[in-house]
Amino acid sequence: MSNPQSKVFLITGANSGFGRALAEAALADGHRVVGTVRNRDALETFNRLDPERALGKLLDVTDTDAVPRVVAEIEADFGPIGVLVNNAGYGHEGLLEESTLDQLRQQFDVNVFGAVAMMHAVLPFMRKRRAGHILNVTSMGGIITFPGLGIYHGSKFALEGISEALAKEVKSLGIAVTAVEPGAFRTDWAGRSLVRAERKIADYDEVFNPIRERRRKLDGNQPGDPAKAAQAMLKLVASENPPMHLLLGRDAVTLVRAKLSALKAEIDAWEVVSVSTDFQ
Ligand code: NAP
Repeated sequence: MSNPQSKVFLITGANSGFGRALAEAALADGHRVVGTVRNRDALETFNRLDPERALGKLLDVTDTDAVPRVVAEIEADFGPIGVLVNNAGYGHEGLLEESTLDQLRQQFDVNVFGAVAMMHAVLPFMRKRRAGHILNVTSMGGIITFPGLGIYHGSKFALEGISEALAKEVKSLGIAVTAVEPGAFRTDWAGRSLVRAERKIADYDEVFNPIRERRRKLDGNQPGDPAKAAQAMLKLVASENPPMHLLLGRDAVTLVRAKLSALKAEIDAWEVVSVSTDFQ
């Protein structure tokens, strides 16, 4: 299908879930798509999506030395990157006290440092062209929190902040940045991709065991459809005036609204104390 608005998409983590769904939808819409994957089988599978308009690239986003090389190759050999989708990421499930600093570093290496490395590599090209759109796939968990996901939330809150500030830095250069915030979607996130910290402290059993159990049961039964998320992201990319944030899923809208109301109520309740700290 030919599309006069055809763009080059660069999607990280395109082997499954949102990344794959968006790659397929963008190809069906006439775009050209580079998808990063982590092994040869996945690369061949990706290339088979479309012999001309799909290109797989091997890349682990934590290999930050390789990132600029891969981006430069795409720009030189495939075309100007119009849309970067920082989608690669995973969840670490574990209580704060039971999660190690190494697990924290790994979570941030992939979800935060990997995404920033991609933006560092792509932005010079987009700036030169005064055009481009960066989608950072964060999460509703970049705005709201659940016990047992603190490390994950930390990484997604970090990417939210980076994304929003960057949007303000590059708007006048013709580049849009949107944090895409999905609720619970039926991908591999809660299944093979989820890293579970080892349980050690019995004091937390009562609070955490039911949460872990509920999450096991949610896998495969999440309300969100990744194919529909892909269509929403295509609408976002086609928009003349894209937002800095886009929630995906009714659960995300409901839970984030509740958080905003609770936050406002707390600000109101403590306002007298909050404003008492300025020099007169
Ligand atoms: P997924 O099916 O597990 O897909 C994640 C993809 O990221 C996989 O293709 C995986 O590659 C790739 N990946 C993981 N670590 C990587 C690394 N170091 N370098 C390069 N690629 C890496 O789950 P998903 O739900 O589509 O996840 C996509 C994004 O959505 C993530 O950032 C996730 O946090 C976010 N998200 C998901 C949900 C949800 O409910 N599904 C909700 C909110 C946000 P392999 O295939 O090689 O493992």
